[in-house]
Amino acid sequence: MDIHRFSFPTAIHFGPGARRGVAEHLRKAGCRRPLIVTDRALAALPVLAEFRGHLDGLDTAVFGGVFGNPRGSQVMAGACAFKSHGADCVIGFGGGAALDVAKLVAVMAVHDGDVMEYVWDHPQVRPIANALPHFVALPTTAGTGSEVGRSSVVSEDDTHVKRVVFSPKLLAKAVFADPELTVGLPPAVTAATGMDALTHNIESYLSPAYHPLCDGIALEGARIAAHALRTAVAEPHDIAARSGMLMASMMGAIAFQKDLGAVHACAHALGAVCDLHHGLANALMIDTVLAWNREAVPHKFEELAHVCGVVGGGARFVPWLRELKYDIGITGGLAQRGVTAQQVPRLVQIAMADVCRQTNPRPCAAEDFERFFKVAM
Ligand SMILES: [Zn+2]
Repeated sequence: MDIHRFSFPTAIHFGPGARRGVAEHLRKAGCRRPLIVTDRALAALPVLAEFRGHLDGLDTAVFGGVFGNPRGSQVMAGACAFKSHGADCVIGFGGGAALDVAKLVAVMAVHDGDVMEYVWDHPQVRPIANALPHFVALPTTAGTGSEVGRSSVVSEDDTHVKRVVFSPKLLAKAVFADPELTVGLPPAVTAATGMDALTHNIESYLSPAYHPLCDGIALEGARIAAHALRTAVAEPHDIAARSGMLMASMMGAIAFQKDLGAVHACAHALGAVCDLHHGLANALMIDTVLAWNREAVPHKFEELAHVCGVVGGGARFVPWLRELKYDIGITGGLAQRGVTAQQVPRLVQIAMADVCRQTNPRPCAAEDFERFFKVAM
């Protein structure tokens, strides 16, 4: 048997009001001058002002320059803000994009050159050699789970191609996961990001690698999301449902250090070609791809159906997903979101090249992806 390595190192402070513990945590770590890295839209909202009100005794500055699919130039501007404030730590506050940029601001605060020289597949990739400033993360959405991840996605400014920086040093020193920060999310965002979290748990469980720790987390994450998502969408202020989705989101991201699958290969293509929201793209593809995957791993569909409370066993799991999507307001297909038949060849090309394709439970060829996109239209 091969020797496997597992690690789950992030300290997580979880629960309503967890954000109030950030100041004490930073003071204990010897930090005095945090730079908050956040989304442009969030920077102007009361939720950020309220959070800053809890950072008493710390000299705080805000970099609110994250928007859209974040670009390298946003990271470099954040690193400038870090230096001009004389900051000694970084607080990431926001959705996946803000947290990804915050990690990279910490990198570029203490490294030379441009952030694009640090992406993992750069021909002369530079090492992340220096110790990074202390970094804590506060997610305000429940979907990507970027707060517990060790990678950052950043787009090239000229081509908009997404690149990935990967290093265990990108892990937050502590996560403050406070469901109260997510109650302001509109239902459509709750639904799309929630489907991303559910998809992470399902796809990592279905992928074939040997990782019983992640399998256990993924099944429990799927169970929690399956029971919380409808309520989180219908009743935005339900803290129990918001807590469930925030936990399921982190569990999905911890689980997918195992792997993802063809749903994500399709979603990555739809993001690159059609600029479709990542969670929505997963939601639009998941039932089509999983219906095809089932015959490769029928026992795993039985297990998923069991934990998600689906009556009727594994054969009913995909129909249950379709009902869930309908209930949370995700109806129609790709065409309704502006995807055209002419884009399918390019979508297939990108999905085929995506690393997630290789870990799908059933091997996917180009004609399979072509069929997925056409069925999901
Ligand atoms: Zn995802």
